Amino acid sequence: MKHHIPEDLPGKIQHYIGGELVDSVSGKTFDVLDPVTNQTYVTAAAGQAEDVDLAVAAARKAFADGPWPSMLPRERARVLNRIADAVAAQDSRLAELETFDTGLPITQALGQAQRAAENFRFFADLIVAQADDTYRVPGRQMNYVHRRPIGVAGLITPWNTPFMLESWKLAPALASGCTVVLKPAEFTPLSASLWAGIFRDAGLPDGVFNLVNGFGEEAGDALVRHPDVPLISFTGESTTGRTIYRNCATALKGMSMELGGKSPAIVFADADLDAAIDSTLFGVFSLNGERCTAGSRILVERSVYDEFCSRYAERARNIVVGDPHDPATEVGALVHPEHYDKVMRYVELGKTEGRLLAGGGRPSGLDTGNYVAPTVFADVAPDARIFQEEIFGPVVAITPFDTEDEALALANGVKYGLAAYLWTSNLTRAHTFAQSVEAGMVWLNSHNVRDLRTPFGGIKASGLGHEGGYRSIDFYTHQQAIHITL
Ligand code: NAD
Repeated sequence: MKHHIPEDLPGKIQHYIGGELVDSVSGKTFDVLDPVTNQTYVTAAAGQAEDVDLAVAAARKAFADGPWPSMLPRERARVLNRIADAVAAQDSRLAELETFDTGLPITQALGQAQRAAENFRFFADLIVAQADDTYRVPGRQMNYVHRRPIGVAGLITPWNTPFMLESWKLAPALASGCTVVLKPAEFTPLSASLWAGIFRDAGLPDGVFNLVNGFGEEAGDALVRHPDVPLISFTGESTTGRTIYRNCATALKGMSMELGGKSPAIVFADADLDAAIDSTLFGVFSLNGERCTAGSRILVERSVYDEFCSRYAERARNIVVGDPHDPATEVGALVHPEHYDKVMRYVELGKTEGRLLAGGGRPSGLDTGNYVAPTVFADVAPDARIFQEEIFGPVVAITPFDTEDEALALANGVKYGLAAYLWTSNLTRAHTFAQSVEAGMVWLNSHNVRDLRTPFGGIKASGLGHEGGYRSIDFYTHQQAIHITL
């Protein structure tokens, strides 16, 4: 198979500290693999505590000396808009790098830069339009909110759609006037290496943005524990979230946690079945199934269950799995051999827990690389591990239900609570069910598109604290209440 290797790949991936690209003080590096060949294509600086110390010191200096935290919102917004323009202009290059490093299909990597750019534009607009509360008790008192950026924000991000998810944190943190240290995921550090040039060209002062590569247990942990980092925004697995939560507790740090999911898509018999099948296929097989909001459990009303399963499986069998750079590819290579092994273990387990309708292993003709055929299990019992646990790959569990109450119990019967998708033509049921389902975000007869003003986040094991719109600004700022007696 022809495999596309981008031109001008960096010779090595470095940290970016105080406006300089630097190696680790220790000289340590780690290997970064291309998920199609699983060969090392570059090494990246493996940050240790001393690198994090330098990055935090640079961010602290930029915060203390300014001008970033004290700039007028309008001035900061101009820089953010220049960042957005630079990001948007790199769409095809970013997609090429992201596809190469993560194994995402190129058609799905294209457009991610536009989404990342929108995050910067949105927060540029928001800080200019920001209004804070003022209360007046006539003749007695006035009270108002004075907002200030908190300081150095520690941002820790995962490997799925890495650049775009980094922008979700970078844009509000910078818009709020914080300075930042970003620790991107070790599986996929390539696209994050674009930020330094983008920020420098847009006129972001040195030291406002710093990046330390490395492993979670080393660089990530040092950032979480650093005494000069008062808040951590984390996206990743729920188990990692728990560790970080514990490690933030001693210093009572601010925390925002976007964690794992096992989101249900509930299909009632009165749904538009064509639309529900299209959407639920997209929900779990787009982005290689490596999507936090994947609808990885499909609950289907029994009267349409057999029809749904056979039509769904037929479509899943026809999904094109192949080289991520091929525009015909719909499911590419999973990010890393360790993750591939994890997903394959669930596929084998699924064969003992459900009825295999499609996939079930490596697709024929793709003998190397982290390829998994889109896999569909039906008749999956609610206590099955493939029903309960996040797989984070192209694997779906389908389960029948008879009543609305049963559907709700099944939907809520897992530890996660990130998203839910409902398919029904009964508007009353859509809303009452949506308001009872344990999920931070619900899509009715639709999927995944959201306005940037809405809250984003999960409940239960899927997260803590919601970002999105002004909630993100609240997270990255202190709101001081000032009272004057008149
Ligand atoms: P992960 O938890 O393994 O790693 C995420 C980040 O945390 C990485 O940068 C990693 O190096 C770092 N890390 C690991 N251990 C650490 C520690 N002890 N201290 C500090 N940092 C540490 O997650 P992943 O495998 O990279 O990403 C996949 C997970 O992310 C899935 O569970 C997925 O659902 C979740 N996710 C959630 C959302 C959301 O918005 N809720 C979005 C995307 C991904």
